Amino acid sequence: MVANYTATGRPRRADDYTPGGRNTKRPNRATLVYANQIRRYFKNTVPIMLGGIEASLRRVAHYDFWTDKIRRSVLFDAKADYLLYGMAEGSVLEFAKALEEGSDPTTIRGLCYNGTEIPEGYLELPSYELVSKDKDAFTEMFHVFYRNNDPLNAHGLAQPHGNRYLIQNPPYPHLTQEELDHVYGLDYERDQHPYYAKQGKVKALETIRYSIPTHRGCYGECNFCAIAVHEGRTVQWRSEAPSSTKPGQSPTCPTSPASSPTSPPQPPTCMGTNARSNCVRDPVSINPASTPRFVQFSPWITASRPT
Ligand code: SF4
Repeated sequence: MVANYTATGRPRRADDYTPGGRNTKRPNRATLVYANQIRRYFKNTVPIMLGGIEASLRRVAHYDFWTDKIRRSVLFDAKADYLLYGMAEGSVLEFAKALEEGSDPTTIRGLCYNGTEIPEGYLELPSYELVSKDKDAFTEMFHVFYRNNDPLNAHGLAQPHGNRYLIQNPPYPHLTQEELDHVYGLDYERDQHPYYAKQGKVKALETIRYSIPTHRGCYGECNFCAIAVHEGRTVQWRSEAPSSTKPGQSPTCPTSPASSPTSPPQPPTCMGTNARSNCVRDPVSINPASTPRFVQFSPWITASRPT
């Protein structure tokens, strides 16, 4: 939807992510359309798994800006089998292993599925039917959902949708710095697929081709932003000098942009975060006077200097 419409509802003519730049390829509510097309043209595809930021943010009943209504979980609307939420590298690997072994994937962290009963120890959210007509129930639902988004202290969640439950397993643990370095240091092609090359350039590649992801997650909790719910409130950062992506080492791009949700790229964070998990009692504070354990890290100042 965001690809096709501005925030005021005006259709977008251009699309930087489509070859040739004309906005003629991407359907509204792409997740639903693609899941339906898979079922239609590849009938034996099992299971169908949803992922990415749209699925992640629509994983429980949610407010839909475009229709000004509460929608049910996208897992039910898309009639998919599973949904992976958040930064799901670890969940994807575990799910692939479960598929290979033929084992039950429903205990994998970071996974949502359509269930018939609430697993032991999981919290029950107000139902979709209730939150779609009761604003207070929706607010209560969102608070429980939001406060169970940290892998160190989250409970699993279950939300009734009719006679079924949307089951959300706790989030997948944060990657270690070594794992993060590995993920972002892989030999990505950083180019559009050759199949689409004849249709024209993908303009967005000019921006992202040589960008260097430095960290992810954000403690900012700005109410209009999706990062805290998708990437988490804990800032995770790569090591100081991932040499394969050091700025200035690209032959064609001497000043690779460092990319991250938070800015500036040296993440301040609470020193208690990893031991205590995120504070869930109060809104996060980045005022050093009230949060003395909040510190600034400087390694990325060094790392972002061209060699
Ligand atoms: S990424 Fe930026 S907009 Fe989003 S919560 Fe963090 S500071 Fe706010």
